[in-house]
Amino acid sequence: MIQTVDTRPVLIAGGGIGGMSLALTLQQIGVPCIVLEAVASLQPLGVGINLQPNAVRELYDLGIDDRILDTIGIQAREWALVGRNGSDIYAEPRGLLAGYRWPQYSVHRGRLQMLLYRTVLERLGEDAVRLGHRVTGYRNHEAGVTALVETRDGRQSEIEGRLLIAADGLHSAVRAQMHPGQPPIQWGGAILWRGTTPGVPIRSGASFVGVGSLRHRVVLYPISPPDPATGLATINWIAEITVDNSKGWTLGDWNRRVSVDEFIHHFEGWNYGWLDVPAMLRGAREVFEYPMIDRDPVPTWVDANVALLGDAAHVMYPVGSNGASQAIVDARVLGASLLQHGVTSAALRAYDDKLCADISALVLRNRGAGPFGILGLVDERCGGVFDDIDAVIPRDERDAFMARYKAAAGFAIETLNAAPPTIAPGARISSA
Ligand SMILES: Cc1cc2nc3c(=O)[nH]c(=O)nc-3n(C[C@H](O)[C@H](O)[C@H](O)COP(=O)(O)OP(=O)(O)OC[C@H]3O[C@@H](n4cnc5c(N)ncnc54)[C@H](O)[C@@H]3O)c2cc1C
Repeated sequence: MIQTVDTRPVLIAGGGIGGMSLALTLQQIGVPCIVLEAVASLQPLGVGINLQPNAVRELYDLGIDDRILDTIGIQAREWALVGRNGSDIYAEPRGLLAGYRWPQYSVHRGRLQMLLYRTVLERLGEDAVRLGHRVTGYRNHEAGVTALVETRDGRQSEIEGRLLIAADGLHSAVRAQMHPGQPPIQWGGAILWRGTTPGVPIRSGASFVGVGSLRHRVVLYPISPPDPATGLATINWIAEITVDNSKGWTLGDWNRRVSVDEFIHHFEGWNYGWLDVPAMLRGAREVFEYPMIDRDPVPTWVDANVALLGDAAHVMYPVGSNGASQAIVDARVLGASLLQHGVTSAALRAYDDKLCADISALVLRNRGAGPFGILGLVDERCGGVFDDIDAVIPRDERDAFMARYKAAAGFAIETLNAAPPTIAPGARISSA
């Protein structure tokens, strides 16, 4: 019998951090793929994000190591929570200083996406990414899947693939077709204003610091090293308040450019000497307003030859700094599944079994404020007013709280350090 080689690619909807990480993973294991990206031109959009050591490990395994990541961000050294009174509530070392074998990185989201995009073009060739191709839906058939595509000029077309992986983000069209009854986006009442301001890094020089209370806080961390001439780094900040959400999100846009005057009154007087919050907020060239949103988890991310990945699968509140990290990890777990089960729907089911339930639980855990939940405990126990934090929440309790979060999010130190690589070096799919 003559065996034919199936040369149809795996189709990836969306060229964000998840989609590009998957393209690099598939190239590494020898599976042809194409990225279909809706926008006509990728731009370095967004502000700061954190890459946890579990995701950095996967980037290293893709050949994107510290020499490359150091060009788009910095290695984080500390994670700290500070009360509205300016006193420490919790602080722990992060990344290599915490004993991980891989660092945690604070980077600019857009610069990371562009780095991954350039790497995809270098390794897979220019034809691997089709810009201006919006995936609007799919048709499963026994031997594969047809992606329904609309190009920028409004033309409809169909592209055949062996599998379709939807990494098309928060508003995923594929997820909407897979789960037509899904509830609308969920907003819990928190509003975030985000920007970057040149500033002198505080504390360790690479600290992620949350100041305030559960419902009213500022988070800041540098995403660049200090400029040797000025000593100023790019400080990423997020100012946040929680309001009544009973009327839903009425401001329309999900990502609105706003003037600092619209919200700075919430942070008037937040000047600690070592940190002048109003000055930091005023120093940003542009500020974006986002509601803190997610989606209710779905029971499965897979429909036959189609799977969801990244935000399309599990958009979550950004309280644990793990949305982008999880998208990268998803891509690698999917790659490992393909190695084990071939380029088949069985591989998608194994990926679903491994991740969907646990990461859906993480989505719900992040609604409970994730690691910022410690601030909620302080609010409950002393209304945020304390002289000695140990009398409010003993150190052991704070440590146990953080350890539980890291275990759920897949970056518990000993577990991660001891785990074998998700994809063994040199592993290739034989039948691809
Ligand atoms: C413009 C932008 C800015 C962001 N800024 C921040 C930030 O500042 N901080 C932060 O923590 N997180 C930010 N995020 C979210 C963060 O990038 C994600 O949580 C995380 O990286 C997971 O990535 P993802 O690849 O699953 O989704 P995304 O990063 O959202 O990428 C999805 C990609 O799919 C494309 N796409 C959408 N619909 C379709 C379709 N139907 N067909 C084909 N392509 C499609 C989008 O253009 C995008 O390139 C931002 C996302 C975007 C898109």
